[in-house]
Amino acid sequence: MGKTVSGVDHVHTAATARRRQRTFVPPSKSYSPGPRDRNDDALLDQLFYATVDECPDPNCRPLLLDRVAADTGATRTLVDWACWIASEVYGGLPAELVDEDAAADTVFCPSPLFCRLVAEHHNPGPAFDTVYATYDTAQRRQVADNAVALVDGLQVWWTDFLYQ
Ligand SMILES: [Zn+2]
Repeated sequence: MGKTVSGVDHVHTAATARRRQRTFVPPSKSYSPGPRDRNDDALLDQLFYATVDECPDPNCRPLLLDRVAADTGATRTLVDWACWIASEVYGGLPAELVDEDAAADTVFCPSPLFCRLVAEHHNPGPAFDTVYATYDTAQRRQVADNAVALVDGLQVWWTDFLYQ
């Protein structure tokens, strides 16, 4: 048994995760640029694999999301990772992730808050940090949830995830 970071009595790792049609690297192995804190790796990976596993424990994902959302840096690492993977899959970030109206028509249907962060990936600059700073814990929780759901959806549906 690995060390639990969520407060529930089980862990989610690459070794226990259900198999998907495709497997992307977890947040800990992300090559996305940008600042990051390696101490967040285990937590971010657990949140991702709990999503992949469709964990039936009603406390599991909510607790992991709470912990990620409490930390702006961890939330940002997760969104950076999801944007990096989506960009690799689609050969750039598609309008269905960047544009709120286009995103609302997909089954993914991410929060407009998430679209705003994805849009910032097009031209990261000083404004990038400012956008994150405007988000409160509840909003960070939403975008963290969207980030892992996006990568899990791509693992199952590949590019069709945004175009069903
Ligand atoms: Zn779980």
